[in-house]
Amino acid sequence: MLDAHAHLSFKKFNRDREEIIARCRRAGLSVVDCAVTQATLAKSLELSQQYEFIYTTAGIHPYKAARLEKSAVEAMLERIEKSIDQLVALGEAGLDYHLDRENVQRQKEVFEAVATLAKEHSLPLVVHAREAEEEALRMLLNLEVEKALFHCYGGSVETAMRILESGYSISLATNLCFSDHQQSLARALPLESIILETDSPYLSPIKGEKRNQPVFIFASVEKLAELKGVAEEKVRSTASANARRFYGI
Ligand SMILES: [Zn+2]
Repeated sequence: MLDAHAHLSFKKFNRDREEIIARCRRAGLSVVDCAVTQATLAKSLELSQQYEFIYTTAGIHPYKAARLEKSAVEAMLERIEKSIDQLVALGEAGLDYHLDRENVQRQKEVFEAVATLAKEHSLPLVVHAREAEEEALRMLLNLEVEKALFHCYGGSVETAMRILESGYSISLATNLCFSDHQQSLARALPLESIILETDSPYLSPIKGEKRNQPVFIFASVEKLAELKGVAEEKVRSTASANARRFYGI
Protein backbone atom coordinates (compact mmCIF):
# COMPACT_ATOMS: atom_id res chain seq x y z
CA MET A 1 0.00 0.00 0.00
CA LEU A 2 1.11 3.57 -0.61
CA ASP A 3 0.19 6.69 1.39
CA ALA A 4 0.25 9.24 -1.45
CA HIS A 5 0.73 12.33 0.74
CA ALA A 6 2.04 12.80 4.27
CA HIS A 7 4.32 15.15 6.16
CA LEU A 8 6.61 12.87 8.16
CA SER A 9 9.26 15.56 7.94
CA PHE A 10 7.16 17.95 10.06
CA LYS A 11 8.15 18.75 13.65
CA LYS A 12 5.09 16.93 14.97
CA PHE A 13 6.97 13.68 14.34
CA ASN A 14 10.28 14.71 15.93
CA ARG A 15 9.47 12.86 19.12
CA ASP A 16 8.84 9.41 17.65
CA ARG A 17 9.47 9.54 13.89
CA GLU A 18 11.49 6.30 13.89
CA GLU A 19 8.68 4.42 15.57
CA ILE A 20 6.05 5.85 13.20
CA ILE A 21 8.21 4.76 10.24
CA ALA A 22 8.77 1.31 11.76
CA ARG A 23 5.00 0.90 11.83
CA CYS A 24 4.87 1.69 8.11
CA ARG A 25 7.53 -0.91 7.43
CA ARG A 26 5.66 -3.56 9.41
CA ALA A 27 2.45 -2.74 7.52
CA GLY A 28 4.15 -2.87 4.12
CA LEU A 29 3.26 0.78 3.61
CA SER A 30 5.23 3.15 1.40
CA VAL A 31 4.91 6.90 1.96
CA VAL A 32 5.26 9.97 -0.26
CA ASP A 33 6.52 12.66 2.07
CA CYS A 34 5.76 16.25 1.18
CA ALA A 35 8.28 18.95 2.14
CA VAL A 36 7.22 22.60 2.09
CA THR A 37 10.18 24.44 3.66
CA GLN A 38 13.96 24.24 3.44
CA ALA A 39 14.09 22.52 6.83
CA THR A 40 11.43 19.91 6.02
CA LEU A 41 13.05 19.30 2.63
CA ALA A 42 16.38 18.54 4.30
CA LYS A 43 14.63 16.17 6.71
CA SER A 44 12.56 14.54 3.99
CA LEU A 45 15.59 13.88 1.78
CA GLU A 46 17.32 12.31 4.76
CA LEU A 47 14.33 10.00 5.21
CA SER A 48 14.04 9.04 1.55
CA GLN A 49 17.75 8.24 1.48
CA GLN A 50 17.52 6.15 4.61
CA TYR A 51 14.31 4.25 3.80
CA GLU A 52 13.66 2.71 0.40
CA PHE A 53 9.89 2.99 0.94
CA ILE A 54 9.83 6.75 1.56
CA TYR A 55 9.76 9.23 -1.33
CA THR A 56 10.07 13.02 -1.33
CA THR A 57 8.14 15.78 -3.05
CA ALA A 58 8.85 19.47 -2.46
CA GLY A 59 6.87 22.65 -2.94
CA ILE A 60 5.59 25.84 -1.34
CA HIS A 61 2.22 25.79 0.39
CA PRO A 62 -0.18 28.47 -0.88
CA TYR A 63 -0.81 29.68 2.66
CA LYS A 64 2.92 30.50 2.90
CA ALA A 65 3.09 32.07 -0.55
CA ALA A 66 2.18 35.56 0.62
CA ARG A 67 3.83 35.25 4.01
CA LEU A 68 7.31 34.61 2.65
CA GLU A 69 9.55 37.35 1.30
CA LYS A 70 10.09 37.08 -2.42
CA SER A 71 13.72 36.26 -1.72
CA ALA A 72 12.68 33.35 0.53
CA VAL A 73 10.46 31.96 -2.23
CA GLU A 74 13.36 32.25 -4.67
CA ALA A 75 15.69 30.51 -2.22
CA MET A 76 13.21 27.64 -1.75
CA LEU A 77 12.79 27.24 -5.51
CA GLU A 78 16.57 27.11 -5.90
CA ARG A 79 16.85 24.57 -3.10
CA ILE A 80 14.17 22.45 -4.78
CA GLU A 81 15.96 22.62 -8.10
CA LYS A 82 19.21 21.56 -6.46
CA SER A 83 17.53 18.41 -5.11
CA ILE A 84 15.47 17.74 -8.20
CA ASP A 85 17.02 14.32 -8.91
CA GLN A 86 15.89 13.06 -5.53
CA LEU A 87 12.26 14.14 -5.94
CA VAL A 88 9.37 12.05 -7.30
CA ALA A 89 7.18 15.14 -7.81
CA LEU A 90 6.93 18.85 -7.11
CA GLY A 91 4.37 20.37 -4.76
CA GLU A 92 2.36 20.77 -2.85
CA ALA A 93 1.64 24.12 -4.39
CA GLY A 94 -1.61 25.73 -5.38
CA LEU A 95 -4.38 28.01 -4.21
CA ASP A 96 -6.10 28.14 -0.84
CA TYR A 97 -8.93 30.67 -0.74
CA HIS A 98 -10.18 29.18 2.51
CA LEU A 99 -7.04 30.06 4.48
CA ASP A 100 -6.11 33.19 2.56
CA ARG A 101 -8.42 35.22 0.36
CA GLU A 102 -6.35 38.38 0.62
CA ASN A 103 -3.34 37.37 -1.41
CA VAL A 104 -4.79 35.58 -4.40
CA GLN A 105 -2.38 37.18 -6.87
CA ARG A 106 0.70 36.19 -4.90
CA GLN A 107 -0.61 32.64 -4.46
CA LYS A 108 -1.06 32.40 -8.21
CA GLU A 109 2.47 33.63 -8.88
CA VAL A 110 4.04 31.08 -6.55
CA PHE A 111 1.80 28.28 -7.85
CA GLU A 112 2.81 29.15 -11.39
CA ALA A 113 6.51 29.20 -10.46
CA VAL A 114 6.34 25.70 -8.92
CA ALA A 115 4.18 24.38 -11.78
CA THR A 116 6.64 25.77 -14.32
CA LEU A 117 9.53 24.09 -12.54
CA ALA A 118 7.63 20.78 -12.61
CA LYS A 119 7.07 21.19 -16.33
CA GLU A 120 10.70 22.04 -17.01
CA HIS A 121 11.84 18.89 -15.23
CA SER A 122 8.99 16.68 -16.47
CA LEU A 123 7.90 15.90 -12.93
CA PRO A 124 4.33 15.39 -11.74
CA LEU A 125 2.81 18.19 -9.66
CA VAL A 126 0.97 17.80 -6.35
CA VAL A 127 -1.71 20.48 -6.13
CA HIS A 128 -3.26 21.92 -3.00
CA ALA A 129 -6.53 23.59 -3.96
CA ARG A 130 -9.12 24.60 -1.40
CA GLU A 131 -12.20 26.60 -2.34
CA ALA A 132 -10.19 27.25 -5.51
CA GLU A 133 -10.36 23.94 -7.36
CA GLU A 134 -11.82 25.43 -10.56
CA GLU A 135 -9.23 28.19 -10.69
CA ALA A 136 -6.37 25.76 -10.06
CA LEU A 137 -7.66 23.51 -12.86
CA ARG A 138 -7.87 26.48 -15.22
CA MET A 139 -4.29 27.45 -14.42
CA LEU A 140 -2.97 23.91 -14.93
CA LEU A 141 -4.65 23.70 -18.32
CA ASN A 142 -3.35 27.13 -19.34
CA LEU A 143 0.16 26.25 -18.23
CA GLU A 144 -0.17 22.91 -20.04
CA VAL A 145 0.93 20.95 -16.99
CA GLU A 146 0.85 17.32 -17.97
CA LYS A 147 0.51 15.43 -14.70
CA ALA A 148 -1.18 16.89 -11.63
CA LEU A 149 -2.71 15.41 -8.50
CA PHE A 150 -5.37 17.36 -6.59
CA HIS A 151 -4.37 16.17 -3.14
CA CYS A 152 -6.85 16.07 -0.24
CA TYR A 153 -9.58 16.92 -2.74
CA GLY A 154 -12.70 18.45 -1.20
CA GLY A 155 -14.38 20.26 -4.10
CA SER A 156 -17.56 19.38 -5.95
CA VAL A 157 -18.28 16.15 -7.80
CA GLU A 158 -18.70 18.14 -11.05
CA THR A 159 -15.24 19.71 -10.79
CA ALA A 160 -13.78 16.33 -9.82
CA MET A 161 -15.16 14.85 -13.02
CA ARG A 162 -13.67 17.70 -15.05
CA ILE A 163 -10.29 17.18 -13.36
CA LEU A 164 -10.34 13.50 -14.33
CA GLU A 165 -11.50 14.29 -17.88
CA SER A 166 -8.55 16.67 -18.17
CA GLY A 167 -6.24 13.75 -17.44
CA TYR A 168 -5.38 14.85 -13.92
CA SER A 169 -5.69 12.83 -10.71
CA ILE A 170 -7.48 13.14 -7.38
CA SER A 171 -6.59 11.85 -3.97
CA LEU A 172 -8.89 11.57 -1.00
CA ALA A 173 -7.48 12.02 2.49
CA THR A 174 -8.47 10.22 5.69
CA ASN A 175 -11.27 12.72 6.37
CA LEU A 176 -13.07 10.24 4.11
CA CYS A 177 -13.71 8.26 7.29
CA PHE A 178 -15.87 10.95 8.92
CA SER A 179 -16.94 13.49 6.28
CA ASP A 180 -20.26 13.09 4.44
CA HIS A 181 -18.97 15.24 1.59
CA GLN A 182 -15.84 13.10 1.16
CA GLN A 183 -18.00 10.00 1.21
CA SER A 184 -20.28 11.33 -1.50
CA LEU A 185 -17.17 12.08 -3.59
CA ALA A 186 -15.90 8.55 -3.01
CA ARG A 187 -19.24 7.13 -4.17
CA ALA A 188 -19.24 9.26 -7.31
CA LEU A 189 -15.65 8.71 -8.44
CA PRO A 190 -14.62 5.48 -10.15
CA LEU A 191 -12.38 3.34 -7.96
CA GLU A 192 -9.94 3.14 -10.88
CA SER A 193 -9.18 6.83 -10.41
CA ILE A 194 -9.08 7.17 -6.62
CA ILE A 195 -5.78 7.72 -4.86
CA LEU A 196 -5.62 7.59 -1.05
CA GLU A 197 -3.49 9.64 1.34
CA THR A 198 -3.44 10.53 5.01
CA ASP A 199 -2.06 14.10 4.88
CA SER A 200 -0.50 13.20 8.26
CA PRO A 201 -0.19 14.79 10.79
CA TYR A 202 -3.56 16.34 9.85
CA LEU A 203 -7.02 14.78 9.51
CA SER A 204 -6.73 11.83 11.87
CA PRO A 205 -9.58 9.37 11.27
CA ILE A 206 -9.11 7.73 14.68
CA LYS A 207 -11.04 9.01 17.69
CA GLY A 208 -8.71 9.94 20.53
CA GLU A 209 -5.68 10.18 18.22
CA LYS A 210 -5.31 13.83 17.32
CA ARG A 211 -2.21 13.32 15.23
CA ASN A 212 -2.68 11.38 12.02
CA GLN A 213 -0.02 8.93 10.82
CA PRO A 214 0.48 6.94 7.61
CA VAL A 215 -0.75 3.55 8.91
CA PHE A 216 -4.14 5.15 9.59
CA ILE A 217 -4.65 4.97 5.82
CA PHE A 218 -6.08 1.51 6.39
CA ALA A 219 -9.13 3.16 8.01
CA SER A 220 -9.74 4.83 4.62
CA VAL A 221 -9.27 1.51 2.85
CA GLU A 222 -11.94 -0.03 5.07
CA LYS A 223 -14.34 2.88 4.55
CA LEU A 224 -13.85 2.98 0.78
CA ALA A 225 -14.35 -0.78 0.50
CA GLU A 226 -17.62 -0.40 2.40
CA LEU A 227 -18.78 2.53 0.23
CA LYS A 228 -17.90 0.74 -3.01
CA GLY A 229 -19.07 -2.70 -1.90
CA VAL A 230 -15.77 -4.33 -2.82
CA ALA A 231 -13.11 -6.25 -0.90
CA GLU A 232 -10.52 -4.24 1.04
CA GLU A 233 -7.78 -6.01 -0.92
CA LYS A 234 -9.25 -4.64 -4.15
CA VAL A 235 -9.22 -1.08 -2.75
CA ARG A 236 -5.65 -1.49 -1.47
CA SER A 237 -4.26 -2.75 -4.75
CA THR A 238 -6.20 -0.32 -6.96
CA ALA A 239 -5.49 2.82 -4.92
CA SER A 240 -1.81 1.89 -4.64
CA ALA A 241 -1.49 1.20 -8.35
CA ASN A 242 -3.18 4.54 -9.13
CA ALA A 243 -0.76 6.40 -6.86
CA ARG A 244 2.30 4.56 -8.17
CA ARG A 245 1.28 5.31 -11.74
CA PHE A 246 0.95 9.00 -10.91
CA TYR A 247 4.34 9.27 -9.21
CA GLY A 248 6.07 6.81 -11.51
CA ILE A 249 7.35 4.73 -8.60
ZN1 LIG B 1 -0.22 18.26 2.79
